[in-house]
Amino acid sequence: MEKATRQQLKKQNRDLVLKIFFETAQISRAEIARMTGLTRTTVSDIVADLVSEGLVNEVGIGVSTGGKSPILLSLVEDAHTIIGLDLAYNQFRGAVVDLRGQIRNVISLPVSDTTGSQAIEAALGILDQLVSSEKDSLIGIGVGTPGLINSEDGVVVTAVNLQWKSLPLGKILSERYKLPVIVLNDCQAAAMGEFKFGETLPASRNMIVVRAGHGIGAGVIIDGKIFQGDGGSAGEIGHVVMLKDGGQLCRCGKTGCLETLASVRAVVQSAQNRLENGETTCLKISDLPITVDRMVEAYQARDRMVVEIIDEAGKFLGGAIAILVSTLNIHHIILMGEMTRFGDRWLDVVYQTMMKSTLPHQGRDTHLHTGTLRDNDVILGASALLAGNYALLMRQPSP
Ligand SMILES: [Zn+2]
Repeated sequence: MEKATRQQLKKQNRDLVLKIFFETAQISRAEIARMTGLTRTTVSDIVADLVSEGLVNEVGIGVSTGGKSPILLSLVEDAHTIIGLDLAYNQFRGAVVDLRGQIRNVISLPVSDTTGSQAIEAALGILDQLVSSEKDSLIGIGVGTPGLINSEDGVVVTAVNLQWKSLPLGKILSERYKLPVIVLNDCQAAAMGEFKFGETLPASRNMIVVRAGHGIGAGVIIDGKIFQGDGGSAGEIGHVVMLKDGGQLCRCGKTGCLETLASVRAVVQSAQNRLENGETTCLKISDLPITVDRMVEAYQARDRMVVEIIDEAGKFLGGAIAILVSTLNIHHIILMGEMTRFGDRWLDVVYQTMMKSTLPHQGRDTHLHTGTLRDNDVILGASALLAGNYALLMRQPSP
């Protein structure tokens, strides 16, 4: 066999074994051989390498199935760490994540009205602190940001909220910290986070995560990988025009986008407008500004006006999800973002509309759940992508 091919095969086998360590809590060499189809000798050699790399260690003795009791091995979760950074609306959040997705050392920074170079400085401020706390074990930085992203080049093509255009964020960070950096769309990162660490795992390796908060977007996971589309923006459903006539102006410049109908911003604005028009609602009682908190309370108290607003928003979202379901026929849909605070009733409106707008056999098999990771979805997803690049985990360069 050619040397290059042999080395390639060796790397493939190592990755196969590492994948099993990531996916199991404890496992024996014999079990790995059974699961991978590799010989016991090959598995033992690979495990010995991983032990000497400090990535895997022996953790105990398993139950015997006849012969000698097997030695159990496990991934050393803090062998390496990754920094995940979520450049969310209103708040930048960075954290150190270990190889099992456990989060520590979170730094949050409120950033309303922070844009342009100020926003870059804010992100660097968080990263400076986290990088200096972790120097030796760090293998990279994963960033999730709203907007249209060219992940291959690490460029933020456009992020309206942050007023970034053609920003080479990946290059700026990798030059400053001398580490591998990945930059990806926040919804795509969130989807990867839910896929890897969420509580409701799909039976298939496919999943769609729809985030409805200040903005709306989706991340699509196909066969365990983020599907970005030809231009990197697969899942950008927030700016599909859902209302042809009389729609509100969107931040993208068009009118009637999904975001102007089903986002948190849209429902608060709608409540504000209807209140000013003199409608009867329990929101009238106080002079306090209308917030999501107050609207959630009013929705639970079945305030007629608020119920109308939230149910309508849910219907528009359900209609948009029906298009995704019809196009991709993915059964596992996770809803995330601040709109999920409106709870089961809102979720049911979204679900019923999705059902009505798809063919019966497509809708019937589709499950809608709310996400479980809350604020950490983007951080976990962005860092999981780096941890999944096994070559980065090796102290010795890959063969
Ligand atoms: Zn728009």
